[in-house]
Amino acid sequence: MMMHVILTSKLLTMKDSDINIVLAGNPNSGKTTLFNSLTGLKQKVGNYPGITVEKKTAKIVVNDFRSKLIDLPGIYSLYSKSIDEKVAQNVICNSYDSDYADVIVVIADASNLRRSIFLLTQIIDLKIPVVLALNMIDVASKKGVVINIDQLSSEMGIKVVAINARKARGLSKLKKAIIETNENASNETPTILDVNDVFGKIIKVINSIRNINNDYASFLSLCGYDMGNSIKQKVEISILSKNNEIIVERLQAKETVRRYKVIDKIISICVRNIEPKGKYKITKIIDDILIHPFFGYVIFLAILFLMFQAVFLWSKYPMDLIEGFFMNLSIWVAEILPSGVLNDLLVNGILAGIGGILVFIPQIALLFAFIAFLEDTGYMARVSFLTDKLLKGVGLNGRAIIPLLSGVGCAIPAIMSARTISSWKERIITIMVTPLMSCAARLPVYSVIINLIIPENVIFGFIELQGLVLMSFYLLGFISAMLIAFILKFIINTSKKSFFIMEMPSYKIPDWKTVIYTIIEKVKIFFFDAGKIIVAISVILWLLSSYGPGNNFQEIENRWVDKENAGKYIAAEKLEYSYAGIIGKTIEPVIKPLGFDWKIGISLITSIAAREAFVGTMSTIYSVGDDSVKTLENRMKSEINQETGKAFYTTAVGISLMLFYAFAMQCMSTIAIVYRETNSIKWPVIQFLYLTFLAYLSSFLAYQILS
Ligand code: GDP
Ligand code: MG
Repeated sequence: MMMHVILTSKLLTMKDSDINIVLAGNPNSGKTTLFNSLTGLKQKVGNYPGITVEKKTAKIVVNDFRSKLIDLPGIYSLYSKSIDEKVAQNVICNSYDSDYADVIVVIADASNLRRSIFLLTQIIDLKIPVVLALNMIDVASKKGVVINIDQLSSEMGIKVVAINARKARGLSKLKKAIIETNENASNETPTILDVNDVFGKIIKVINSIRNINNDYASFLSLCGYDMGNSIKQKVEISILSKNNEIIVERLQAKETVRRYKVIDKIISICVRNIEPKGKYKITKIIDDILIHPFFGYVIFLAILFLMFQAVFLWSKYPMDLIEGFFMNLSIWVAEILPSGVLNDLLVNGILAGIGGILVFIPQIALLFAFIAFLEDTGYMARVSFLTDKLLKGVGLNGRAIIPLLSGVGCAIPAIMSARTISSWKERIITIMVTPLMSCAARLPVYSVIINLIIPENVIFGFIELQGLVLMSFYLLGFISAMLIAFILKFIINTSKKSFFIMEMPSYKIPDWKTVIYTIIEKVKIFFFDAGKIIVAISVILWLLSSYGPGNNFQEIENRWVDKENAGKYIAAEKLEYSYAGIIGKTIEPVIKPLGFDWKIGISLITSIAAREAFVGTMSTIYSVGDDSVKTLENRMKSEINQETGKAFYTTAVGISLMLFYAFAMQCMSTIAIVYRETNSIKWPVIQFLYLTFLAYLSSFLAYQILS
């Protein structure tokens, strides 16, 4: 009876061919390649999911039948989310669509059968005539996957044909199978998953509303999909759904679990795994270790550890060179220019600012060299796999690892990359916690303070203390991102879930061009985008710290009689009474419990624009009132606490300061990007507030406990 209804509906849509043949399957399964082989067309074949954004059609003759061939965007299931997935889903489900299939050809990646046939079983259950084209047989055999095709065919009750879309093999068999399937369309086919067993009599009620006995189509109608139902039918179904308190996501989750159980049984009967060959063998051997449930994590941590050790140790030499160069340049400029405002602005404002940025380029370049290297070898995909369980536990999608790891570079591209996460909730959580990841801008801050409070060359076995502390702060960022995500999971409401599917590329020797390109890109972003802000802030700061309100400065000069010998004290006192000093002092009571003085206060304020401004600010502040040219580190080292008479930068102050920078939302660009990506003022405000609160609390606790 069902076939009868569908046929009538199709007559209404003016068919211009004998049969519609629809190609459906996962992204990258070879649909477009098959389409081209069958039609002789040269459509763009891509290696990325979603390259077929619209359906493509072509008229061909298949064994004397005038046929329309339709290439759909890739989908993993009939549960469409994105726009191109909806296009595919509508063609498959909606019997009023002009491309509605007489026969669907599901193209499956034979080397990944379990994932590939989920969609197939849904289509079988819709009772649409379907043929399975097993593609990538060549890859499967190298991976050691052996499929018993006859068995698979009889288990599923459909025709199965092995093809090689790229080499156009098996196409005549496929065509024959399509025509035969079309001719036998009215034959009864087995059901893979009986939704009546799972969801009870509500399915039959919908069958009677729709006036068609198609259990799975009724189930999908209940899930709210357009199955070619009339408006009256849709209204009745939605009332039924309300009365039964149906939650669609729960139905789908339950169906997915049950369906995979059936699929796993079929796979266990029809698929055998033997030893892989060639590069797949190597990949498998490496994967057995790298994604091992225990050693996988140990190796990941070890790699992270080595990376941070190297970032610190290897960058020392080039950093010293750059620092030395700027010191000499400053001395030279200070000498050749007549002393005065311009000299001062150049040396203590502009040069201090630029030198302060350039010196961190070796570290940033090294960090990205490592990340790009790991990405290009294929290891990062394994890291995503390893972290997927952890991320799911805290309410994040497996895909979130990409934004999170990019956050180690810069939160701005990282937050933008969260767009690939289709669930709104998971995306918001990812955006909210990404700034906690330790970005490149924090590296200069950490670096200066670690050098200041952690002794150099303290080595336990093969562990160097400074590198260890640096790594702890990166871990702190990650762990707090996880904790906050976990909390947000309960605060942000929605029950929508998305499924994580990740390709595991084969390992390869990295392409050095890609690696070098990434390094140059990241350094450029840091130098130009952040650099502009830093130099501007350096100049503003120089102004703020060189001038004061009213005749403060005049009074100071007058007070000191012996101007020759008191130069240093005059300058220091001037700084204290300058605009900058006044601002710093105004907030001093608030930050005193954190162990900060008004000089740090000035840096905290300039850092709201960008964290890296910390170093430039400190350089400027400490160079005022000190005639000798020194590195910032030495200047900070000789800073004395007026109350204790000892060094100001104690371990307690240093740790407190680093914690503040670990948490505080000190980046105007990130605030702007969060506003743009969420299209609301609410999220950036919440983010700024919770991060500031965390920063203050953690610094407060650290200082009070340690000092
Ligand atoms: P679509 O996303 O399903 O349209 O997949 P494409 O047709 O774009 O194919 C994805 C990739 O798989 C391309 O690089 C094809 O060249 C490749 N490919 C297609 N069929 C085969 C095959 O049978 N064997 C192998 N090794 N590669 C194939
Ligand atoms: Mg395609």
